[in-house]
Amino acid sequence: MAASNMKSAENLNPIQIMDTTLRDAHQSILATRMRTEDMLPIAAKIDQVGYAAVETWGGATFDAMIRYLKEDPWERLRELKKVMPKTPFQMLLRGQNLLGYRHYADDVVECFIDRSISNGIDIIRLFDALNDLRNLKTSFRATLKYGGKAEGAFCYTVSRFHNNDLFVDLAKRLEDMGSDAICIKDMAGLLSPYAAFDLVTKLKKAISVPIHLHTHDTSAMSVATYVKAIEAGIDIIDTAISSLSSGTSQPPVETIAAILKDGPRDPKLDMALLTEIADYFTETRKRYKAFESEYTGVDPRVLAYQVPGGMTSNLALQLSEQNALDRMKEVLEEVPRVREDFGFPPLVTPSSQIVGTQATLNVLTGERYKVITTETKNYLKGLYGLPSGPINESVQKKGIGDEDAITCRPADLLEPELEQSRLDLENKLNEGEKSIEDVLTYTLFPKVAIDFFKDEGSGPDLGLASAEQQGIVPPPLLAPSEFNIKVHGETFEVQVGGVGYPGEGGRPYFIYIDGHLEEVMVESLMEVVPSEEGRIDAHVGGQSSRPKVSEEGDVTTPMPGAVVSVKVKQGDRVEAGAVVLVIEAMKMQSEVHTPIAGLVKAIYVSEGDRVNPDEVLVEVRAEA
Ligand code: MN
Repeated sequence: MAASNMKSAENLNPIQIMDTTLRDAHQSILATRMRTEDMLPIAAKIDQVGYAAVETWGGATFDAMIRYLKEDPWERLRELKKVMPKTPFQMLLRGQNLLGYRHYADDVVECFIDRSISNGIDIIRLFDALNDLRNLKTSFRATLKYGGKAEGAFCYTVSRFHNNDLFVDLAKRLEDMGSDAICIKDMAGLLSPYAAFDLVTKLKKAISVPIHLHTHDTSAMSVATYVKAIEAGIDIIDTAISSLSSGTSQPPVETIAAILKDGPRDPKLDMALLTEIADYFTETRKRYKAFESEYTGVDPRVLAYQVPGGMTSNLALQLSEQNALDRMKEVLEEVPRVREDFGFPPLVTPSSQIVGTQATLNVLTGERYKVITTETKNYLKGLYGLPSGPINESVQKKGIGDEDAITCRPADLLEPELEQSRLDLENKLNEGEKSIEDVLTYTLFPKVAIDFFKDEGSGPDLGLASAEQQGIVPPPLLAPSEFNIKVHGETFEVQVGGVGYPGEGGRPYFIYIDGHLEEVMVESLMEVVPSEEGRIDAHVGGQSSRPKVSEEGDVTTPMPGAVVSVKVKQGDRVEAGAVVLVIEAMKMQSEVHTPIAGLVKAIYVSEGDRVNPDEVLVEVRAEA
């Protein structure tokens, strides 16, 4: 990164551009589903455009690759690096959260960053969802120690506690921590053109390292925002190739280049090459149409609710799983209220998920904070760090009672975990020693990683598990497994390659269309369960044989979900309000309590069972 030491309006250096096509753009538009095989044919050309950096890793790519694509994210990094030796690779990293959803111990953070740099990452954008810089201490130290460039980022958000003085102060502290550049991370696209001009002007006066702006086009202000930021002297901006740009993605690079053409800040990119790359992704995008939700376009609601695009589609998915899609508007209105109670955290992973799920629960249960997730409790306890605003005390009391919130850096409470994690993995897989990269993958996503290691390389072409290998027969509807369909006068050859495990959004079917593999999520009206003999039993509406709730001691779940753990045994004596189960719904866990004291008479569930609100899960009866 070339440093600019000029003052704000005098910055006459060509604007530097980071290309987000291989990370944020397809994360924002195609639910992070683009496969490495669709990147490799064009990667060498992207390398020649003249970008200051290419964003190739981080954010949701790691999770999505092992969960859905069954590809090794470390391998993607190495493959891309081979064909893109020229342009520096940048990744996005959530500080102590790395690429996962909880805080990891310092030894994991240090090792993950070491391996990321060793496998090809040059620049790491480090941020914390709450802008609590204590959560960046270890990742900063490790990035600099292993020879990476550290781009310290603060999350831009709007509230009565967020203003330019606060942002400038954050930027100064990030610079003191050793930032090679400072990033304004506007993950929701809330930064207006004039606010950008103001903020960048102030930052350029206070900061001597380059300033980098990241935004999304969700409210369609982004091109104007970049133009004003450029006028104020911004050094680097993030764009995507036009065919994967705009809407919830970044602004198009070609547009920015055209606006600046022949002026002092012309980025001087290879425009012919850009056209070629845009054409390539126009075709590629068509194959991922199934993953484009109705929320990937322009949506000015983001300005009212501050809910980023990715979070809106997540909320919609969660509500449809709870059969409550009609309550979307209520949930969107509840989000800002919960955010205020929580001290106005910026809405970005993982705070967006914690706030979004709590808001959904507040609406669905009909009573605010009647059910509080484990993650909300941890948040209220300070385990995610501190937000910029004050936390509502009565909500905090509801969550953690008379316990005190912590005051230290959250990760100071975590013991080293990498060695134990390695032993766990080797025990579970029984395949001998695993690479340190595999151990890290497992540490970040223990459950998903085990499925991934078992499936990896076992299926057709891309290691996707085939139907037979899983003992699942495609339902009769899809037989015969090869047929032709006609769409708009064109004929396509269709072949069913395999069926995956059901998960969020339905059951994945892997289908070859004209020889090209596609993943299609099928949401079934019938719950199809393979029996032990491999026969398929269909349960219409997922009905179970559990009794219906009728008595006071019948413990049930407040919402459909899955049992994480059973905390009692038959015959146990329990106090009123004791925890009997932990349920996972909408990616968050919550405790289920017994309403009465007594003896546990019957337990109708075990770990992993799907459960519904009208069923008895545990029977507690008062002692005579
Ligand atoms: Mn982004």
